Amino acid sequence: MERAKEQLILPIIYLQWRFHTESNSLWAKVITSIYGSNGGLSSNELPSQFSFCSTWNSIIKAGRKVSSLGIPFTTSFQLHPGDGSATDFWSENWLGGGDLRSRYSRLFHLDQNKEAKVADRVSWHEGGCNFNWQWNRELIGRNRDMLEEMILQIREYFSNNNSNATGTSGGCFWLLAANGRFTTKKMNAIILEKVLAHEKSQPESLKNSLVPKKVEVFIWRARRKRLPSLLELDRRGVDLHSVRCPMCDDDVETIDHVLIFCKIAYDVWTRIYKWWGHGAYSRLSIIETFEGSLNRNTSELGAKIWQAVEWSSGYILWKYRNMKIFKNKKVCAPSIVNEIQIMTFEWISKRLKGPKLEWCSWLSDPQIYLQIN
Ligand SMILES: [Zn+2]
Repeated sequence: MERAKEQLILPIIYLQWRFHTESNSLWAKVITSIYGSNGGLSSNELPSQFSFCSTWNSIIKAGRKVSSLGIPFTTSFQLHPGDGSATDFWSENWLGGGDLRSRYSRLFHLDQNKEAKVADRVSWHEGGCNFNWQWNRELIGRNRDMLEEMILQIREYFSNNNSNATGTSGGCFWLLAANGRFTTKKMNAIILEKVLAHEKSQPESLKNSLVPKKVEVFIWRARRKRLPSLLELDRRGVDLHSVRCPMCDDDVETIDHVLIFCKIAYDVWTRIYKWWGHGAYSRLSIIETFEGSLNRNTSELGAKIWQAVEWSSGYILWKYRNMKIFKNKKVCAPSIVNEIQIMTFEWISKRLKGPKLEWCSWLSDPQIYLQIN
């Protein structure tokens, strides 16, 4: 179930992974025969006459989009050659950093057998590697230097990876995860981290010293509609099964929907307003919701506390939305509000200089904090 949910988020990336892990499967062979050994993942040109293969085209495009974020996705799969009998020496990325055919194209053209397996060219044992080359002509000059460079890399590879290279077919390792296993969830996290790092480097940001940095960043992104709602992902070309809100299933999932208009969100805000004695919550825009302004006399610090509560509420709502998508956790307003009360108490008391918050009054009568100085 969880696996199915993960696949919902980045199905195209998932298919890319399957292409790499199951490179001996029939469908991978078909793709290979059309697009080349790397499935077209490293080349920039796609043969247009094969437009019937549109699914594969979109898979490749999605991979390139990820790469354009500065994530080396298409070269991040490394095939461990096992005993080397099933892995192409030149055209599979077993050494890491791309296939040898692209990196040493001059040597590739001089090999008598372009389809040689790793085992045909290298044999390794604890003492080191033995090489068995079959060149069209003797290598001299620059070609000789290239060969030496390649040999150096191969030796280094086997001295580092000898223990992993077991079994006939070896395995596929994903270099972006410490354990070598690809999951769309981890992929998603890497993409978000990149986007977040980029946005953090932007000078303009909203400040409220009573909440953690992550909440500030979240609000900054929410106000600029820069959160990966399902509709946003769909617009950016990620092929999703559905763009409907996973919490209520009543409407398409936009950022405004998750944070304001969803019936779960509405229920949460109504309860938060009631908790603070604000009267009815009327659906506002995201900008208004996180403004922190109140139509009553509050101290400057009081307004800042209320804003911290609003921001944290948005952050925790989004967190629950993610738990619904990634872990299929049940989402209900009372438990979200419960967490908001606990987290805001913890975050704000830790950061508040001077006045102290009391847990009992925080829960039952938080309005008193609107007047403090
Ligand atoms: Zn909804």
